[in-house]
Amino acid sequence: MRRKLAAGNWKMNGTGASLSEAMALAAAHPDPQVDILLCPPATLIDRMADAVHGSRLAVGGQDCHAAASGAHTGDISAAMLADAGASYVILGHSERRTDHAETDAAVRAKAEAVLAEGLVAVVCVGETDAQRDAGQTLAVVGAQIKGSLPDAGVTGQSVVVAYEPVWAIGTGRVPTLDQIAEVHDFMRAELVARFGDAAHGIRLLYGGSVKPSNAAEIFATSNVDGALVGGASLTAADFSAIIAAL
Ligand code: 13P
Repeated sequence: MRRKLAAGNWKMNGTGASLSEAMALAAAHPDPQVDILLCPPATLIDRMADAVHGSRLAVGGQDCHAAASGAHTGDISAAMLADAGASYVILGHSERRTDHAETDAAVRAKAEAVLAEGLVAVVCVGETDAQRDAGQTLAVVGAQIKGSLPDAGVTGQSVVVAYEPVWAIGTGRVPTLDQIAEVHDFMRAELVARFGDAAHGIRLLYGGSVKPSNAAEIFATSNVDGALVGGASLTAADFSAIIAAL
């Protein structure tokens, strides 16, 4: 049985003042039935990990470099994230694929670094509006999964896959439940074909305009094991309502 995961991606939002939201979230869920993860900007990881220390809230990064160390100004390695208190790392988010031209191969190299460090990789995939209109959704998602995941070390403990249609991120537009089920069932089948029975343990998250009002029906959808939440993860009140729906 896969344990559900509610993951919040703060993106480029939050300063020290925002730590109160993480602390309120941790306090509201002392014994959660699901895993709860917050991924703040890198500047807050260390402080957030300290602030929620001893709680059931996990802290994660939003990206990392594929190399362990070296001459990469501005970048952060998986070992540094672990040292700061992170246990998960989001990789290949569509905003990074767009803003930083990250390819599947780059995401895969980062995922290898994350797994080598013993952290959990949350690998994101998802089609654009134009790709969906062209009927390419499954082909795009399949190619991203194929190219972005390492061959070795992929298990239910080490990897989470998040399906985030680009057109649903921050737009208030959400796919139909049938569309979500179609992609999640497809992803499960692709993962099982490649990784065997271990892939039944990999959690598949839906992301894109998840809110308290639509969370329950999305979570009841086939092969949806949780959510990757952007805007609605910024406040403890909204994120708690989503967690309650899991
Ligand atoms: P929103 O929940 O704000 O649409 O963002 C989704 C997302 O990109 C999470 O990674």
